[in-house]
Amino acid sequence: MVQGTANWNTGQTQEWLQQYVDDWVAFYRKHTDDGEVASYIPVLAKADPNDLGISIIGKSGMTVRSGDTETPFTMQSISKVISFIVACMERGVSYMLDRVDVEPSGEAFNSIMHLEMNQVQKPFNPLINAGAITVSSILPGKTSDIRLESIFRLLEQLLGYRPALNVDVYESERDSSMRNRAIGYYLLETGFLESDLNVTLETYFKQCSIDVTIDDLARIGMVLANDGMDVKKGEEIIPRQIARIAKVLMLTCGMYDASGKFATYVGIPAKSGVSGGIVAAVPPRVRDEAMPFTDGCGIGVYGPALGDKGNSIAGIRLLRHIANQWDLSIF
Ligand code: GLU
Repeated sequence: MVQGTANWNTGQTQEWLQQYVDDWVAFYRKHTDDGEVASYIPVLAKADPNDLGISIIGKSGMTVRSGDTETPFTMQSISKVISFIVACMERGVSYMLDRVDVEPSGEAFNSIMHLEMNQVQKPFNPLINAGAITVSSILPGKTSDIRLESIFRLLEQLLGYRPALNVDVYESERDSSMRNRAIGYYLLETGFLESDLNVTLETYFKQCSIDVTIDDLARIGMVLANDGMDVKKGEEIIPRQIARIAKVLMLTCGMYDASGKFATYVGIPAKSGVSGGIVAAVPPRVRDEAMPFTDGCGIGVYGPALGDKGNSIAGIRLLRHIANQWDLSIF
């Protein structure tokens, strides 16, 4: 691997940055052996644990991508950011924040314990399952397909095409997800759900099963980095206030129980999912003009071998390396 700190002043052409990123991906691919693919949703276990890919899209459109760039994977928990944004756009921010909090839970993403132990007035945040299932119950529409449609509409605007539902993953989760059903029943009993439980769970399972690529995640990250603007089209896709809340949630709650460590060592708003994806939003920074992507970038990562906190093990290490080399931290 290229060692030491490069003099980023010497040139920032796409080809030049590409060499570094290729080198780093090759190095961190070996780290995939330290993790394991998720298997509690049976179809996810079919992923190749040694896959690793990254896509970085800058404001000018400069793109650096390397590794397994074409492999589709399901959004899983990354969809929670999108469904929360959609719900805020449809229902209003204060309506949503009255029903879902914005505090890290400090518990596993699929925990019920914290809800019961703390006698909370609302789920801790929309990026854990209890919060996300509550959000799915608030999305407008009587059927899961109508609710999903509002998610597809936003994704289509963000990505420039309509992504597809991965039916195998959806059915696999639907037929195995006893824990999420338990969370759903708990939410129903406590009065947090706004609509029918089965429709809500179907919506949640389907939104988690939307196929994307790392380029898609980089595009989403780029729009969030620019406070909801698609800078290429000069169009606001997500209202600024909502994009900002989404980034705060990603920074404080986006990487499961490793969110504090990720904020400390990487310092970028990001959200991961159990299929091994990570979306990251790097806002413009003015510290050092010599660094690449000072005007911000979106990053998509895929690496299905997960560490003990449920994040892509090699993906996190790769992101940490790049963030340090290119001074991407927002702090
Ligand atoms: N569909 C997954 C579940 O609810 C999403 C989990 C995740 O990506 O964190 O178990």
